[in-house]
Amino acid sequence: MRNHDAAQVVSPGESFSRLRNAQSDERAEGDGARRHAILIVDDKPELLNSLHQLVNLHGYQADKALGGAEALEALGRKHYDVVLLDLIMPGVSGHDVLDHAAREGLDSKIIVVSGDSSFSGVKHALHCGAFDFVKKPYEAGELISTMETALRQCELESRNQVMEAKLKDSEELHRFIVNNSPDLVYMLDRNGCFIFLNERLESLLGYRKEELIGRHYSELVDDDHLELARNLFNERRMGERAATNVEIRLKSRLNRRGPRLFHVQSLWMELTAEGVYSDPNERTRENFVGTYGTARDISERKEAEEVINFQAYHDLLTHLPNRALLKDRLSLAIAHARRNKRKLAVMFLDLDRFKLVNDTLGHTMGDRLLKAVANRLQSCLRRGDTLARFGGDEFTLLLPEVRTKDDVVVIASKILDRLNAPFVIDGHELFVGASIGISIYPEAGDSEEALIQNADIAMYQVKGRGKNGYQFFSEEMNHSFSTRLSLERELRNGLAQGELKVYYQPQVSLADGRITGVEALVRWQHPVRGLVEPVDFLPMAEETGLICQIDEHVQAQAFTDVAYWRAKGHSDVRVSVNLSAMQLEKEGFVDRFVSTLQQSGLEAGAVKLEITENTLMQDMEVIIPKLKELRRLGVHIAIDDFGTGYSSLSYLQQFPIQTLKIDRSFVGDIREDESDASIVNAIVAMARGLKLDLIAEGVENRTQLKYLHAQGCNEGQGFIFSKPVPANDISAMIRQNPFVDLVRDGTLEADASEPAGVV
Ligand code: C2E
Ligand code: MG
Ligand code: MG
Repeated sequence: MRNHDAAQVVSPGESFSRLRNAQSDERAEGDGARRHAILIVDDKPELLNSLHQLVNLHGYQADKALGGAEALEALGRKHYDVVLLDLIMPGVSGHDVLDHAAREGLDSKIIVVSGDSSFSGVKHALHCGAFDFVKKPYEAGELISTMETALRQCELESRNQVMEAKLKDSEELHRFIVNNSPDLVYMLDRNGCFIFLNERLESLLGYRKEELIGRHYSELVDDDHLELARNLFNERRMGERAATNVEIRLKSRLNRRGPRLFHVQSLWMELTAEGVYSDPNERTRENFVGTYGTARDISERKEAEEVINFQAYHDLLTHLPNRALLKDRLSLAIAHARRNKRKLAVMFLDLDRFKLVNDTLGHTMGDRLLKAVANRLQSCLRRGDTLARFGGDEFTLLLPEVRTKDDVVVIASKILDRLNAPFVIDGHELFVGASIGISIYPEAGDSEEALIQNADIAMYQVKGRGKNGYQFFSEEMNHSFSTRLSLERELRNGLAQGELKVYYQPQVSLADGRITGVEALVRWQHPVRGLVEPVDFLPMAEETGLICQIDEHVQAQAFTDVAYWRAKGHSDVRVSVNLSAMQLEKEGFVDRFVSTLQQSGLEAGAVKLEITENTLMQDMEVIIPKLKELRRLGVHIAIDDFGTGYSSLSYLQQFPIQTLKIDRSFVGDIREDESDASIVNAIVAMARGLKLDLIAEGVENRTQLKYLHAQGCNEGQGFIFSKPVPANDISAMIRQNPFVDLVRDGTLEADASEPAGVV
């Protein structure tokens, strides 16, 4: 190996032009054999001329110099390949000319042509650098052949020079290429120590060559990659076994591109390594000299890959794993659970009131809320659990280690608890709450798709039941729609085809058992599935916005039906309709509602709106003026499912409401053996305080009827009277008032056994 360190770098342009010149020199030589420069020197004109003629005769051009002085002049003017020189000349002698040539370092081949054939004369001439000696009188053949030998020698030498110049240029060129390579170029000796490093070392890794020459390669390799490096260098690599594109991290002293996202102290490089052998044909251990290779900076590519990789498997807003990563982990967990005969759980979680925040407070707020939710959820997890965001306000949770359902109940309850506490963002107090569907492996499915989909189905059940809760998947649920997409498509279609029907459930006065009104409840008369209950399609309708069309349809139908019954003599019958948050918030809602009412011919005073607490709490500034406007027109307003939300008294007072509708879960809690149904009592007390009417929903038996009447509840609705039924059936009921006896008996019993008016 040459000493490259002393290299003086030339530009590649310079090197190339030199190479080109050398080539053209070479070409010139080819046809110029006869164009050698020859000088003939003699002090005798006749001898000078005859020699000149002789040379000419053999096809050579030559210059003449009459005596030594002229010779010196000629040599000063031009370069001669060969000089035929007379020795004994007056003034400047042949010896003087030889001395001059030696002094000046002329490389002309000087052939002495002299009568002085004494040994000392010849010796002196040769000593002074003469090429050869021809004795006078010369023999023509000998003289020409001596001259031609000298000329050949000249040619050889000049070719040599060209070769040398070329070599030098090409070496400089290669050195330039090596040093200016964008890659690090290195060579190791057989022990793995650096013997060469190109100039890139400094700008790439921040070391000077002198620091590393003689040091072992391992000093440059990141600690985590030493094993990889050993594999790479310790094999004697050659030819096909040469290592290409091995990705490895090298220690760097630089931090050239500012703070890096990953691995600040080391740089990703792509390495090649190839064994070098003293005899390339015999790649033996003995012949191994070292390793040659290059290293390329690929840290930018690596960073990009890491970012892309992260993006492919994570949700960018919350930095949680995404659907793809969850599926990956789930499939691993399933395999693991199958092997060990263990259970695992998948939870599908959908926020109950996220859409509202997003729609009313904007996406930035929505994003911040999602991040806050993600944080809270994460605080409920154990090590090994995976929380993923599926997009929108949907999260999925994988619990790979569960022993019993109770384990899962604990976590689900904890999550609901945490999410029920309000989020305070930018001064806004936000209530979200969540609906959680749970599927357990292996009962609820043994593939990722089945487990996720079934958890999703279970989640929809929670939504249908009034949200904010959890539900395990069960086989019966599978009879509902298999995918949300097919459900949505069919529902749109059903709406257009008139498959959505209005059923009515009577509302009965607990004072006299007469029907005071009916609640309109939607049903889907599906051509294949039969009668589909609201729980199976309303959550989807809310999500897609179809709920507005459904509500408008139900209201138009219900108003028309009730207007007809009233016209037929039942002028005191009222109708309750359920309002969705979306319909209520929509622009122009009041105008549309009033126009539907007018078209049906029903008076506003016959209409009661049922609105859930949660709907009321969503966007009070928008909702309150609308409700006030409707109230002004004479519409009654009731709070549905009362007691399940979070409304406080002060809250309620801001709304123009007349009726509280006790949720059926509290009515269901009234049992024979417990005289104390404290929540019902509290609601009754609250209604009294606010001077509101009370209606109880979900009244199923006489005990409940009796208790509610005793508490002073005005009206009741429930299976004890009737399930929701089609319009024809309810109109018959309105005519016959079949519940008068039932209520009288029930309440009389109550009057007999328990004193009324406890509160
Ligand atoms: P809701 O407004 O609280 O309606 C009362 C629900 O309780 C009805 O369920 C009714 O069938 C059921 N129910 C009545 N009496 C009893 C009883 O004694 N025991 C039990 N266990 N249940 C009883 P349905 O019809 O399935 O409706 C469920 C919910 O769907 C309704 O709850 C309401 O929030 C919503 N909904 C129904 N129709 C419409 C509609 O046209 N528009 C809107 N926006 N929502 C509707
Ligand atoms: Mg209702
Ligand atoms: Mg209700």
